[in-house]
Amino acid sequence: MTFTVLNPATEEPIAELEQAGVEETDEAVARAKEAFPAWSAVAPGDRARLLRRLATLVEEHTEELARIESRNVGKPISGARGEIGMVAQVFHYYAGAIDKHFGETIPVAGGVAATFREPLGVVGLIVPWNFPANIASWKLGPALACGNTVVLKPAELTPLSAIRLGELCLEAGIPEGVVNVLVGKGSIVGQRLIEHPDVAKIAFTGSTEVGRLVMQGAAGTIKRVTLELGGKSANVIFEDADLERAAASAPYSVFDNAGQDCCARSRILVQKSVYDRFLELLIEATKGIKVGDPADDATEMGPLISAAHRETVASFVNGEPLFRGDAPDSPGFWFPCTIVEATNDDRIAREEVFGPVAAVIPFEDEADAICIANDTPYGLSGSIWTQDGARALRMARAIEAGVLSVNANTSVRVSTPFGGFKQSGFGRELGMHALEGYSEIKSVFISTES
Ligand code: NDP
Repeated sequence: MTFTVLNPATEEPIAELEQAGVEETDEAVARAKEAFPAWSAVAPGDRARLLRRLATLVEEHTEELARIESRNVGKPISGARGEIGMVAQVFHYYAGAIDKHFGETIPVAGGVAATFREPLGVVGLIVPWNFPANIASWKLGPALACGNTVVLKPAELTPLSAIRLGELCLEAGIPEGVVNVLVGKGSIVGQRLIEHPDVAKIAFTGSTEVGRLVMQGAAGTIKRVTLELGGKSANVIFEDADLERAAASAPYSVFDNAGQDCCARSRILVQKSVYDRFLELLIEATKGIKVGDPADDATEMGPLISAAHRETVASFVNGEPLFRGDAPDSPGFWFPCTIVEATNDDRIAREEVFGPVAAVIPFEDEADAICIANDTPYGLSGSIWTQDGARALRMARAIEAGVLSVNANTSVRVSTPFGGFKQSGFGRELGMHALEGYSEIKSVFISTES
């Protein structure tokens, strides 16, 4: 069976691919299983050299990979270049981490206890369509660094960069069978990976709904899982914040990647005393976002991923919004930047829209802000804007989310842990913390008694 991959900015077909099924999944798992003993035995320095070579190859192919990602996801090319730059950095980072992931010696009676970090075996990586290469690299880097072999399943809508990454892995000298890219439906290939007895762990990024299925399916074989799921993050603006800076940054924190970002600060909480002023600044800043052809260097926002997704996003906007921007009326799954006023009980404030729609919600004081920010099943990310350092720290500790920023809207750095609280999932990606999710601790006691 074949299927067609579309360019969401034009609705034109860009590839026709074979769709894998259960049989192909079993074959890929078998290849990964066969490759595991040799790969996990590669000396740390040699594995590091291979990952570094992969990082360098990604750097050398930045423009090609960025163009693939831009055409397949509808991402503005300037942003896509940055994302591929991060993919290379991730492989460099984990190349450097391989010989710094230590065990311990523990004082015990009668001998010495030592811990070892053992690889898990075959790991299934299931990734979504919003940041296909980036999220694949966040899983591939630590998985390979720890000595695992992998089966990588990209989203059917956006498989092209993963296929190219798989080729670059081989070109880098990573042996056949270590990285297996499998293009197919989540409900077939993904489900088989989750249930397969020879897959030791599933690393999943996607919707909370499918995350639940991953947990359920993994129970049968007590598989390890790490889940990076949805978000409904708050961007909290206090009256003492640098309002101009906060307002200039806020649109990009929710409209970037056309809002298809689990870290999107899609609830903008504004203190009542500065509400009107902030709204004016926010709308002014949003008017400046350049929406259009993703291949144009100046474009800041492209289309949504699919027609079906555009319908879902549109269903969140009822009545006249506070602001609606422009979008091309040519083919493509376009949706304009949209700002609506809301209470935290409205559907728009409770569910992940995954589109360029921001809900602005007023609050009274710090206690009210904490209450609203935490009144969500999600807990991935968020921001606090204030000039009061003590308040910033109080807020950062009080908000139930895995990744927060103060006077900034960033969530992701190669060297810092990334992941959620509550129904945004568990386990951490990136930084040294990610290595915990791709290795088991083994404790060995060595008797010193004669
Ligand atoms: P999904 O959770 O359905 O897809 C994510 C990945 O999981 C894809 O590779 C998909 O494969 C796979 N998958 C789907 N169903 C199963 C299954 N039963 N078993 C195993 N794997 C499966 O996200 P959607 O693409 O449907 O997006 C829906 C919503 O999810 C978005 O609107 C957004 O709210 C949220 N989302 C959050 C993301 C995040 O970064 N946290 C990323 C993507 C979506 P395939 O698509 O090929 O069938």
